[in-house]
Amino acid sequence: MLDLNTDIININRVGATTAKKLKKLGVAAVRDLLFYFPFRYDDFSRVTPIDKLQAGVSANVVGQIELLQNKRSPRRRLYITEALVSDDTETLKVVWFNQPFIARLLKVGDRVSLAGKAEDDYGGMMMSSPVYEKVLTPLTPLYKGGGAIHTQGLVPNYHLTANLTHKQVRFLIKQVIGLATRVIDWLPFEVRREAKLISLAEAIRKIHFPKNNLDINKARGRLAFDELFLIQLQAQLVKRNLSASRAWPIAFNESATKQFVDSLPFKLTDAQRKAAWEILRDLKKDQPMARLLEGDVGSGKTVVALIAMLNAALAGKQAVLMAPTEILAKQHYDTVCRLLENFDVKVGLVTRSQKKMNNVLCILYNREEIKQDKQSVHNTKYIIQNTDIIIGTHALIQEDIKFKNLALAVIDEQHRFGVEQRKVLVEKSGGELTPHLLSMTATPIPRSLALALYGDLELSVLNEMPKDRKKIITSVVPESKREKAYEFIREQIRQGRQVFVICPLIDLSDKLGVKSVEEEYKKLDKIVFPEIAMGKLHGRMKSQEKETIMQEFLAGKIKILVATSVVEVGLDAPNAAVMMIEGADRFGLAQLHQFRGRVGRSIYQSYCFLFTDSDADKTLKRLAAVVKYNNGFELAKIDLKFRGPGQVYGVEQKGFPELKLASLFDYGLMKLSREQAVKLVATDASLSKWPALKEKLGEWEKVVHLE
Ligand code: ADP
Ligand code: MG
Repeated sequence: MLDLNTDIININRVGATTAKKLKKLGVAAVRDLLFYFPFRYDDFSRVTPIDKLQAGVSANVVGQIELLQNKRSPRRRLYITEALVSDDTETLKVVWFNQPFIARLLKVGDRVSLAGKAEDDYGGMMMSSPVYEKVLTPLTPLYKGGGAIHTQGLVPNYHLTANLTHKQVRFLIKQVIGLATRVIDWLPFEVRREAKLISLAEAIRKIHFPKNNLDINKARGRLAFDELFLIQLQAQLVKRNLSASRAWPIAFNESATKQFVDSLPFKLTDAQRKAAWEILRDLKKDQPMARLLEGDVGSGKTVVALIAMLNAALAGKQAVLMAPTEILAKQHYDTVCRLLENFDVKVGLVTRSQKKMNNVLCILYNREEIKQDKQSVHNTKYIIQNTDIIIGTHALIQEDIKFKNLALAVIDEQHRFGVEQRKVLVEKSGGELTPHLLSMTATPIPRSLALALYGDLELSVLNEMPKDRKKIITSVVPESKREKAYEFIREQIRQGRQVFVICPLIDLSDKLGVKSVEEEYKKLDKIVFPEIAMGKLHGRMKSQEKETIMQEFLAGKIKILVATSVVEVGLDAPNAAVMMIEGADRFGLAQLHQFRGRVGRSIYQSYCFLFTDSDADKTLKRLAAVVKYNNGFELAKIDLKFRGPGQVYGVEQKGFPELKLASLFDYGLMKLSREQAVKLVATDASLSKWPALKEKLGEWEKVVHLE
């Protein structure tokens, strides 16, 4: 007997290979299959009589097979399966290519249901490679208890990879859909009633096998609500906790701050001054600050954070800056060391780099040789004692590290961290007090949306770029101009500039981007730019190697850096002036904008070249938006329109919470979920009345990365 936890391998007709493919998609148990939602439906809700078929229009027909034969086309080495299918009105010609097995699966006399596009065929009609399935009775789609799931009704389409077919997935889900009733509805009944939502079981059933569009809307409404509600609930709970806790007040050191600002090689923008002031004002309080510093790529968030950290350090307290990648952490460390040269402040770097000693983290101080700053309390505890500003990666929270007196935690690219990870960092203060929290993000979202999303945070915005920046010139480069683009790059390098080449992942098995980067690197290094110093960066490389490459790039030794999206966030290479993106259609628009932000970070005119293999109208329109708009939020919105909310699912859309069904632009639903979350927390913030919800929130916190 199947239940929700049954391994999919035990479902009828799932072999080891299929199971493996499904596991790649994250589907391991029956429950996962139920939650593997379709993103689109083909509308075959009406059977069309064959004599009413229209050329160019997709339709479902049901009829009897009159003739079926395999042929071989000698010239094109092609198998053609030909069939004639008749209903009461007409006969339809059907062909399939290179699927000779169809002639074995079907036989003359079978009643089949076909779905596909009709085409003109010398006066008659034909269908080429339609989806087919055998049916017993003509008009019984699944929701009516019949057998047709591939060709009738609203037919679900899933995001597939690894050679899985829609047919396989539908067939499997059909077998387990009855178990949907066993899924515990974790939404409190009162919430469901007030928000007028259907039950979870019903939503699952309807999202896979809807009867009509109303079913789809109801199911999506319920499931989308769930996603937003969890975000809101989390935000409300954090807010409540914060307002109940105390922090170290950090005095504003006016003279040191002035000295620091004067020592910078540039003048702060007004936006930077205002944000710094807002932060310093919060730090003085004995209530923990919870502030989001938002500014588009290149707007100069780092120095603003540094002003806050300097004040904490000079007040005799510790400040920590956590970054999502080792490269970025190292770069921040270098920047901070450089800018604080004239201050009596000790800076440290904590990463999980290769230079681990005795399994301890590698800790660097102001560029001195590596040594350990640890005090063994019990064997595994390390207390960071005499460092004022600590910069690091996830290692800061993963390892059993404690701080002596952490008063300020800064999280860079905050959307790259899970809620849970942010919480862990804040809990390491080394005392009863809660550190002030400054989160930073390049995702430029409007204030109203930020509040709805991160209801727990105050907001400071850098809505102004440093004055010396030139607009980045972006263009979609057709294949025919590729050589010209390479020539342009050569010229830029001759002038002293540097270049990024970003490669998309080739396939799912290439998660770390090894294959794509290696191939592109080989081509460019051997054939296109043999005379130019090149480097590569991908997820499989040891952090020490990555570090070396980055340093060489920053030092100008490497001129062209071929990389995966590892370079996406934060990286500051002022001398880079060309960002070339291969397979640009495979990235989200907001993400392309982030890549583009890697160049144009100084006085040099910079360029972003987008390449794509696809000449589909939609692709070109999407990319044209990147050319036109220079605003990450606008681009994310446009992307959603092109793809539909569900379709962003599974596609990297960094900078936004990963939502499968909800849209961040659905303000109505956002508001509703917020109201319900506020109400629930006011009733019982411990959630003890709703154990299923509590459990769900826990699970969600563990997996969710607000990306
Ligand atoms: P982001 O907001 O994307 O994190 P950074 O803090 O990395 O941006 O700053 C980008 C670059 O701009 C850095 O090289 C930084 O030194 C420089 N910068 C920051 N503020 C200013 C300013 N007011 N004027 C000129 N350059 C600045
Ligand atoms: Mg940054």
